[in-house]
Formats: sequence, C-alpha cells, structure tokens
Amino acid sequence: MDNEERLLSNTQTLDDRDAEGSLRPKTLADYVGQEAIKSNLNVYIKAAALRGEALDHVLLYGPPGLGKTTLSHIVANELGVSMKVTSGPAIERAADLVAILTNLSQNDVLFIDEIHRLNRAVEEVLYPAMEDYRVDIIIGKGPSARSMRLTLPPFTLVGATTRAGQLTGPLRDRFGIVERLELYSPQELGVIVLRSARILGVQIENAAAVEIARRSRGTPRIANRLLKRVRDFALVEKIGVIDAGLADYALGLMEIDNLGLDATDRKILSAIIQKYNGGPVGLDTLASTVCEESVTIEDAIEPFLLQLGFLARSPRGRTATLLAYKHLGIKPPKPMQISLDEI
Ligand code: ADP
Repeated sequence: MDNEERLLSNTQTLDDRDAEGSLRPKTLADYVGQEAIKSNLNVYIKAAALRGEALDHVLLYGPPGLGKTTLSHIVANELGVSMKVTSGPAIERAADLVAILTNLSQNDVLFIDEIHRLNRAVEEVLYPAMEDYRVDIIIGKGPSARSMRLTLPPFTLVGATTRAGQLTGPLRDRFGIVERLELYSPQELGVIVLRSARILGVQIENAAAVEIARRSRGTPRIANRLLKRVRDFALVEKIGVIDAGLADYALGLMEIDNLGLDATDRKILSAIIQKYNGGPVGLDTLASTVCEESVTIEDAIEPFLLQLGFLARSPRGRTATLLAYKHLGIKPPKPMQISLDEI
C-alpha cells in the first residue's frame, strides 16, 4: 500500500492540504508541544529583531507531519517578514534558485522543504548565499563566459527534512540553528485535537479527543485527519457531540487499534515475527516482503514502532520485541517467553 493511501500515513494528502491552512497555528504561543524548540526559537527571534538582523539559518528535522512547515510559517510571522516556500525537488537548476534568492526582500524567510533532495549544482549556489549573502553566476558560454557576483539581501533559510543524515556536511554546517522535532505525547495531541475541533466547529468531548490523540502515532497531521474522519461518522450517524464511544467505534472501523497501529504496522511486525523468526531482518528485505518502500518504513512507519518499543534497530536489521509479540497475540519463542512473563 502506498504511504499516501494509508489513513495513518503522515505524509500530506489533498484532503489535509485543504484543512491545514486553517488548522496551522500562526504564533509560537499557539504551537502545541516541542517546548524546548519553542523557547529556544523565541530567544533567537527576539535577539534577531533587537539587532534588526536576519535570523540565523534554521534546520528543522524529524518525521513527516510533526509541524516543520508550520513552525517555519510561525518563524516568519514572529519575525514580521514574508516567507517564500519551495522544496528540494522543485528547484531543478541553479538558475531557479538564483531567481528565488534575488527576489527575496531584506530579512525574509526562504523555506525549503525536503532540503536533502537538492541537487549538487543547486546546493553549491546555496553555500555562498547562506554564508555571505552572495551568488556568483556565469554569463555566456565557452571562452567568452564571465562570472558575475550578485549581492543578496540578508535572509533566513529554513530547511526542513525527514532525513538530516542525508544532508551533505557543508550544507549542514551552514545552519546556525538545528532543531529536531520529536513525536508528540498523547496529552499534547489531545490539546491539538480540541483546538482543531474548535476551528472546524466540531463538538467533541475531552475523552473522545484523548481517544483520537492516543491513536495518532504521535503526529499532529494524523490527529487532525482522524478527527475529520470521526466527524464524518458523527455526521452520518446523526450524533451531535463526539464522545469516546463514537471515536472508539469509528477508529475501530478504520482498523486502527487501541495503540494507534494500523494494518500496515501490524503487517510489518507480523512479517518480522513470522517470516524472519522475529528478526533481525534488513530494511530492504523487509520492505520488499511487505511491498512498501524502504524510505516509507524508515521515515514514516518505524519511528512510532520504535517509540512504542515494538521494534529494535541494529546494524543487522530490525527485530520485533517481546512487546510486539504480546500486542499481536503471538506466542514468543521459549527464551523470550520467560522474560515476557515478567512484564
Ligand atoms: P511537516 O512540515 O513536519 O510535515 P506540518 O507543519 O505540515 O508538518 O504539520 C501538519 C499539520 O499538523 C499542520 O497543518 C497543523 O495543522 C498540525 N500541526 C503540526 N504541528 C502542530 C502543533 N505543534 N500544534 C498544533 N498543530 C500542529
């Protein structure tokens, strides 16, 4: 199954795009969770404003749907500047990036999503732009070609990536602020669900928000999506206020279990257990066994399974833990069973 098609996929779908504009918090105060990042950014933003300078370049990394794009909008908003949005794969040629950079105004934010996917030639334009606010362009071809230096206004690059490890060293080193976003706690997601419900005009009891939050894989994008699907059930069943019973019923019909695992999570864990004796099994082998892409497993599926302690990762591959056996109701092999009884 394609990651886009999963209800619990954390990548953006068309449906999300419609609602995300209105659901995105606009200020740091409205942004739920990620407390350490928020308080650091608050200081850096205030200091940049006091100095009247552009904020240092910011790299945000972490799994999809955790709020990297949202945070970039907030940074620009709090700085009181405009933001231009683009992405690594969208900038094909160095000239495209030069055009974007030369159109920035003083202290603007340039947001590049999936920055690890920039190609080499484009990345090389970025180095002097980030470091000295300049780009060198070559005009003409062959012997008559000459180089011209363009000075850029000071600006802030905010880069977002799900895979910081794939950034080249020189690019990573040019970010003065590097922050890793963590999966959200159920409490934080509960606050996000209640906030989104208020914006969408959906009546929901606290217990139902907690139920949705608990089953959203630590990801705000998924929490918002599940809220909208549960709202559909409420509408069709003619229920005015969503309560925990309805949330549980709807999530159950969507095959999302009580910990928030969906059919794909369960397929991956069962494959490791039943086809590879619990592991370790290499990522690529596992991916082809369950017909998923390795990057999808690595970026979008496994962080939550690791956080639950259902999966262990080592250089030899992925291993299902005792907790995974227990959750799936599969009897673990003998040596494991002894310790399982102790859990
Ligand atoms: P990413 O760029 O990391 O993939 P987004 O910034 O697009 O994620 O976030 C997806 C959606 O989740 C946003 O539209 C927003 O509604 C919601 N969201 C993300 N982070 C938060 C947060 N901290 N508080 C409230 N809502 C959030």
